[in-house]
Amino acid sequence: MAPTFHIENFGCRAARADGEAIAAILRNSGATEHSPTEADVVIVNTCSVTGEADREARAYIRRTHRTNPAARIIATGCYAQRAPGELAELPGVSAVIGNSHKALAPKVAIGLMPFRSTVADNLIQIQAASAAAAAPQVLADDTFAHSFLEEAPITPGAQTRPNLKIQEGCSNRCSFCVIPQTRGHSRSLSSSAILAHICSFVAAGGNELVLSGINLGRWGRDLDRSGSEPRSLAALVRVLFDQTVLPRLRLSSIEPMDWDSDLIALVRDFAGNHPGFPPTGPRRWGGRLARHAHLPLQSGSDSVLRRMHRRYRPWHYAEKVAELLRAAGPALTLGADVMVGFPGETDREFHESYDFIRSLPFGYLHLFPFSPRPGTRAWHLHAENPVPTSVVNERITALRALGSDKIHAHRSRFIGSELPAITLHTPAALAASGRTSALTDNFLPVELACSLPANQLLQIRITAIAPDHTLLATPVQIDQFEPSRPVLVGAC
Ligand code: SF4
Repeated sequence: MAPTFHIENFGCRAARADGEAIAAILRNSGATEHSPTEADVVIVNTCSVTGEADREARAYIRRTHRTNPAARIIATGCYAQRAPGELAELPGVSAVIGNSHKALAPKVAIGLMPFRSTVADNLIQIQAASAAAAAPQVLADDTFAHSFLEEAPITPGAQTRPNLKIQEGCSNRCSFCVIPQTRGHSRSLSSSAILAHICSFVAAGGNELVLSGINLGRWGRDLDRSGSEPRSLAALVRVLFDQTVLPRLRLSSIEPMDWDSDLIALVRDFAGNHPGFPPTGPRRWGGRLARHAHLPLQSGSDSVLRRMHRRYRPWHYAEKVAELLRAAGPALTLGADVMVGFPGETDREFHESYDFIRSLPFGYLHLFPFSPRPGTRAWHLHAENPVPTSVVNERITALRALGSDKIHAHRSRFIGSELPAITLHTPAALAASGRTSALTDNFLPVELACSLPANQLLQIRITAIAPDHTLLATPVQIDQFEPSRPVLVGAC
């Protein structure tokens, strides 16, 4: 019987990409996925962005050990990097692997599995902890030498639109953020490795891929500048479009000041009303670059942004939004992260932020209460001048109502419109009612009034909006999957 594993991912899109990569390597090496209550090895891919994220990870580990005491538990991710000792003390934990050593996580997992002879020989087998009572193996330091999970294949399997993480770490120093400590300085995956991933994804029938990173807009800045390889995100994406037939690419979060003129020109050339690819083939709906931009805002107050050590002011942000809308057209969906209750945030500063957010055409907001993280500048600011929890909750409630209005206004604009979309894995209850989940190129979740398999490119017409803001739609034209479609047009 093949050894089994379960991976539980917490945190951001980049962390999920890490988890997907670990799972793909384990599947390729002969292990199979199972429920956490029965798996031989349970990998807990932690987040440490807030104190609540830490608490959730600890609770999950305790629950896993209670319900599956035989499981070897591996804690990895940002919490494992920030405070490995805290996790190593929890019951059932066999190994703690910080982001600095994340590339070794699959090998450690395999070493902890029974029936290791069924596992691929080419993976280094690390001596397992010989008994659950043995001291956990702890791998975490500040060199980040084993932090990229490059070898994991990206396939359109459990996730229709997988993430390809091409950038790791961050060299900024926002005063609230623990990421520079937990993931190290900014590093880029090579363009040849990215190209190889995309070629194999397209060859496996993939239609939409999300490029992600901790600070994606900084991709390429650390690479050797002597060769002819691309050295910026915009140049990289042009190469990817030139050398592969990937139908659709989505960029995840990009910091406001990293939307430079090259990146905006990329949006103008490949999103908007640019014809699809290939120009005469069936995929002629929409551009190859999704009309979706996520720019973390954090606050719309100048003075709060200064205390956060963010590198832009509100008017910079508004300028970038205007440029993006000009480049992509009005169908662009704009999203932002907003932090509420940063130390010392006054009523006046909150209202500045609220009014700024209200003035921009956001399609959605991700709201977070400030959470002090040990080792950051804001930890001390919070100790000196915290915002009371009741005030934070009031402000979050106000912004949540504003965000809900914005979602409704943005999505309602598309009733009666045709949009390009891709079908997703539909939840069982929805599928049973003869409907299909899909996502438009401009990041609108829709329910189609018909049954379709996942990973289908199609053109849809939006017919109505449900009370929960989900858009209802019907297919207008469905792309036929071509098993013989050309995969490579360039150097792959
Ligand atoms: S840009 Fe700032 S908030 Fe974002 S990861 Fe880097 S330090 Fe953290």
